[in-house]
Amino acid sequence: MKKIAFIGLGNMGLPMAVNLKASGYQVIGSDVVDTACQAAEAAGITLAGDAQAVVQDCDAAILMLPNGEIASNVAAGVLPDMPAASLLIDCSTIDVKTAKQIHKQAAKHKKKCLDAPVSGGVVGAENGTLTFMVGGDDAAFESGRPLLDVMGGKVVHCGDGGAGQAAKICNNMLLAISMIGTGEAFALAEKLGLDQNRLFDVVSTSSGSCWSVNTYCPVPGVGPTSPSDNDYKPGFAVSLMLKDLKLAMAASDEVGAHVHMGKEATQIYDRMSELGYGDDDFSSIIKQLGLL
Ligand code: NAD
Repeated sequence: MKKIAFIGLGNMGLPMAVNLKASGYQVIGSDVVDTACQAAEAAGITLAGDAQAVVQDCDAAILMLPNGEIASNVAAGVLPDMPAASLLIDCSTIDVKTAKQIHKQAAKHKKKCLDAPVSGGVVGAENGTLTFMVGGDDAAFESGRPLLDVMGGKVVHCGDGGAGQAAKICNNMLLAISMIGTGEAFALAEKLGLDQNRLFDVVSTSSGSCWSVNTYCPVPGVGPTSPSDNDYKPGFAVSLMLKDLKLAMAASDEVGAHVHMGKEATQIYDRMSELGYGDDDFSSIIKQLGLL
């Protein structure tokens, strides 16, 4: 596999494309926004017009787009123009239903397909350490794996089409809930007069330990460096967490899953967004507990 079309060169897509190019692939990019195109050219990515133009002769096309509606439209536009036996990889975070529809469209056009959303944020994209959660059949997975290994530190084949998106929203729903719980525990400790570094020492090695405490503690100056030490600058913005929670709620409605805490977390992050904190890191929930 040599020629890769990369569609969507934003905060995540551009560093991913740059890593592919640096490891020897021929990467041809496309984006609809001028500033994104200029940044891509400045980073050494060759552009070749619109999405249909860049997929000509490609071995694989990678999408890194804002949402399911856009990803589905772009996929529908490029699939007929992609060469036979080429591979479509959608790395955008989108709803499970649309992801499955994209797999069906790809099958109709006899193209291989993976949904491969990521965890790890912009830093993971830059460092090539993203976690990829991948859905699709074994042949598509084996064909896409070398590309994902370049852009990621961990690649998990989660199951058939849509399974990657399912894993992504389950993980992020759990993360949202655990961060709210972490914020509440540290806020309660403060009110009880308990030193927060002592609480960290206890919880991080006890049954309450979790990523939200151990790696991403929302209290400034406590635990490893995290966005709380940088005035809650992202990191992972409230608006992105809210997007993922809404996808999780849509999926749970469709299958009738009981997600009591997931619903509560969605309302809490929705309220933070309404209050104007959409751009802050999601761990800033600890500062807003009294307002929600
Ligand atoms: P972004 O808005 O920075 O980038 C998206 C890019 O897609 C933009 O440059 C936009 O111009 C382009 N685009 C939109 N419509 C297009 C079209 N029709 N054709 C070509 N390009 C088009 O967003 P991002 O932060 O890079 O996120 C991309 C995806 O990754 C989203 O689905 C997001 O939920 C997911 N994600 C983001 C993060 C993060 O930390 N930013 C982490 C994990 C997952």
